[in-house]
Amino acid sequence: MGGVRIDLHTHSTVSDGTESPSELVAAAAEAELDVLAITDHDSTGGWAEATEASRRLGVTLVPGMEVSCRTAEGISVHVLSYLHDPTHPELLEEITKSKDARLSRAEHMVSLLAEDYPLSWDDVTRHVAPGATVGRPHIADALVAAGLVGDRTEAFATMLSSRSRYFVQHYAPEPARAVALIRAAGGVPVFAHPVASARGRTVAEPVYQEMIDAGLAGLEVFHRDNPEERRPFLMGLAAEHGLFVTGSSDYHGTGKPNRLGENMTAEDVLGEIERQGRGAAVVRS
Ligand code: AMP
Ligand code: ZN
Ligand code: FE
Ligand code: FE
Repeated sequence: MGGVRIDLHTHSTVSDGTESPSELVAAAAEAELDVLAITDHDSTGGWAEATEASRRLGVTLVPGMEVSCRTAEGISVHVLSYLHDPTHPELLEEITKSKDARLSRAEHMVSLLAEDYPLSWDDVTRHVAPGATVGRPHIADALVAAGLVGDRTEAFATMLSSRSRYFVQHYAPEPARAVALIRAAGGVPVFAHPVASARGRTVAEPVYQEMIDAGLAGLEVFHRDNPEERRPFLMGLAAEHGLFVTGSSDYHGTGKPNRLGENMTAEDVLGEIERQGRGAAVVRS
């Protein structure tokens, strides 16, 4: 009990985290994690570097990704994928579309912000690593550098909120389609922070059902953005439909208060992910 420390949701500079994949693995070692999943937004670009670092630093690595999705109603949903084949053509095509759409969407948001604030696209790209998946956190970094907000959290509470007039949506596949594609690629799909209502609207039960029918494997119940009072609902769904439950930090380096290991996943759940994953292997140090 309480032996193995497993954190299955983290970001690097390959998306909107502030540490490179090897720095992320080093931070995991520092936080005394035994197992870390790297789950950058719509990209597996950090897997190779994280694999090398995990072998060197003695941290077991679960290669993963966080797939951006949107329902027909326009509600944002994130689906974590573990151990999928990173070369699977259809999944690759979908995440590439989302990644490209994120870029034009960020440019659009910056052009709207630039009408009211001294902010340029160059100010933003300075905070984006080459080839990284662009997100609002990068715009936040530019706002911080310009002295317009104190930190990313303040930017998200104000100008970058999904309720702000500067907010723009981007293309993303429907969640059930993403779940089916992840399965087709041999991956294990887990609904990330399903009831994170502070971020925007969250989905109702029919969307869970569609995702379950498409092959959903688990629910990320233990995540700081899931309000306590909504967790029994998630636990009930998991029990009813035979889904496993995970817990994770959603660490973004210095970009968010979330700390590595603040929520963790049980060892038997990791075993289940490893049994179901067919497209990539866990990297044992
Ligand atoms: P986007 O993917 O561009 O829509 O932006 C959402 C990303 O911003 C997710 O990775 C979140 O983890 C991150 N995020 C959401 N809220 C905050 C916050 N308050 N501070 C920092 N990052 C945040
Ligand atoms: Zn992120
Ligand atoms: Fe997310
Ligand atoms: Fe995340």
